[in-house]
Amino acid sequence: MRLRKSTAAAPLLAAALLLAGCTATAPPQAAGAAAAPAVHEKHWSYATTPETAGPAEWGSLPGDAVCATGTRQSPVALGTKAPAPVEAKDLPNLVFRYGMTGLHLVNNGHTVQADVDKGSTVEIDGAAWTLLQFHFHAPSEHSLDGLHYPMEMHLVHAGSDGKPGLVVAVFLVQGGDSPAFAPVLSNLPKEKGGRKDDAAVSVDLAKLLPADRTTLTYEGSLTTPPCTEGIRWYVLKTPVGITGGEMGAFVSLPHMTPTNRPVQPLGGRKVLLDATP
Ligand SMILES: [Zn+2]
Repeated sequence: MRLRKSTAAAPLLAAALLLAGCTATAPPQAAGAAAAPAVHEKHWSYATTPETAGPAEWGSLPGDAVCATGTRQSPVALGTKAPAPVEAKDLPNLVFRYGMTGLHLVNNGHTVQADVDKGSTVEIDGAAWTLLQFHFHAPSEHSLDGLHYPMEMHLVHAGSDGKPGLVVAVFLVQGGDSPAFAPVLSNLPKEKGGRKDDAAVSVDLAKLLPADRTTLTYEGSLTTPPCTEGIRWYVLKTPVGITGGEMGAFVSLPHMTPTNRPVQPLGGRKVLLDATP
């Protein structure tokens, strides 16, 4: 912060340094001094507008470069058969130890997120991952055999370091009735910043999942800035049916459709399909 303490004798040098830094690591207050709004003053969004940076611009936002430069990004196009790059294998099964949670919803303007009470985990290969929250995208972020589903739910888990490291994705379709979704989708906060907290409402987390737990798995990233890589994805092949009213409750919220990042190049990554669910 020495630049801020520059004496009057060196204001031009300071300004030049601030502008030079603007494209890389300048603090937000330096950008404010420029006359024209720079790209990195925008807030990330799913649409590119004068005020918001859509997915193609995320990589130019400060701290989010990996959204553009990363080679292991999510979502991706998935397939269960050739010519999709998928290999069937006997994978260790996910063991869901999900319990109940009270209702803790927040509309953050990008999705509605349900934070969950402690105690729900998924075990894979002897390691336990703690469920932190789940949230929704519309339409689906991953595609499966060339199709996007109307919605996709992400169940975000943390490893022993407390950081998100494993996401279970569930496709949602209209039709059928999964009562476990009702307390969530009938209480969605409509406005950005809106919250709904009701510890007395119970959500049975295990019932948010399909009975068939066949997974496709690959190494990817967060699908929103900062697009952090090193995330293990488990995408459940079988969708879950929810009512038209429940689906409508989410997709009709302001700014919630579309909330899917376009699919990213798979590159040399392998997708594995569990041959023995
Ligand atoms: Zn997500």
